[in-house]
Amino acid sequence: MGDTHLDRAVRLDRADRLAGYRDRFVIADPALVYLDGNSLGRLPVATRERLRAVVDTWGTELIGGWDRWIEVNRAAGDVLAGIVGAAAGEVILADSTSVNLYKLACAALAARPGRTVIVTDDDNFPTDRYVLAGIAADRGLTLRMVGTDPDRGIDPAAVTAALDGDVALLCLSHVSYRSGAVADLPALTAAAHEVGALVLWDLCHSAGAVPVGLTAAGADLAVGCTYKYLNGGPGAPAFLYVRADLQTVVRQPIWGWFGQSGQFAMGPSYDPLPDIRRFLVGTPPVLAAYAALEGARLTAEAGVEAIAAKGRALTGYAVDLVDAWLAPLGFRLASPRDPCRRGAHVTLHHPQAWQVCQALKAAGVIPDFRAPDRLRLGMAPLYTRFVDVHSGLSRLRDVVGAGAHEPYPSVPAGIT
Ligand SMILES: *Cc1c(COP(=O)(O)O)cnc(C)c1O
Repeated sequence: MGDTHLDRAVRLDRADRLAGYRDRFVIADPALVYLDGNSLGRLPVATRERLRAVVDTWGTELIGGWDRWIEVNRAAGDVLAGIVGAAAGEVILADSTSVNLYKLACAALAARPGRTVIVTDDDNFPTDRYVLAGIAADRGLTLRMVGTDPDRGIDPAAVTAALDGDVALLCLSHVSYRSGAVADLPALTAAAHEVGALVLWDLCHSAGAVPVGLTAAGADLAVGCTYKYLNGGPGAPAFLYVRADLQTVVRQPIWGWFGQSGQFAMGPSYDPLPDIRRFLVGTPPVLAAYAALEGARLTAEAGVEAIAAKGRALTGYAVDLVDAWLAPLGFRLASPRDPCRRGAHVTLHHPQAWQVCQALKAAGVIPDFRAPDRLRLGMAPLYTRFVDVHSGLSRLRDVVGAGAHEPYPSVPAGIT
């Protein structure tokens, strides 16, 4: 029976139009099954070369290199705009997702004076909830938490019920970090607009995994990171999106010199640029920004629609293996079954998920663990093969079938 599943994987790999992209990445250990591209993407070969070249320009050109380096945030932003369905000039690389979230949430609140409520959901990524709670505490605003089932994802009816004329800002994640469930971005954006609120989307788990369609949805604001599906490297800078017509209407709270008109005139007062650069703050991390640019280029070249289609096929294949092999061992799917309702990862409940996670790593498969009882399996479409999914899940079946996870510590520690 295992052989028929393997045959299917081999067949799917042969038919995969994106198969060649795996060779564009550094695969240091071909035996390792890497199912954590949703936390940290692999290193593109082009990035290694580009970083060497950029480091050399530092050595040779010294301060003169800035003439070119200063463009990297916008150049990367234009590539990223294509990936998230926005126009060039609406996206820029800057800071971290958390910091951008703060900047754009404050900008949205300033554009809705007199309104006192921020809406988010209780399963949103921790940094989103904390940043919003901090803003609400600082300003005496109310943070209204919508309840979300962590497996099924955001319930549009519950969000809509939380929206009224007091709401300044709705802030949600497009793809849930825990279950991979996709929120209905166009419908929720429209619902917020109906009560006059602005919407801020977190695209960390969707950018480079599923189509986002910001322009098509009339989205206002968004943030996202580049080190997950976009393969920008550990700690690579994040991006932010502000719809063109809002750029001169909203004002961000950190008045840095990189957002200033005539930056090098060193003028007496802040007069922000009339475009997306006004959402910059200070000197960008140039080396990391070039890595983000190269990673984004690879995704743009492959095309988000093709990537998403492969993501649905990979996760669909994984769900079939879960049903066949893992359900009898106490695993339960913690992601939507409908492939169009999930991103490129599949999450499984298991009462000993942390022990299983450790044993699986020892067996040469890298998943990750999310509290309290979930094993996350990321299948980044650009470099994950169907045979990798087959090996990963068959090793998982064998590990748990043999009870090899039992000796591992049951209490999580450190980075999971
Ligand atoms: C990974 C992730 C983040 C990370 O934010 P940083 O500022 O880069 O640490 C934020 N939000 C979501 C939804 C994420 O998945």
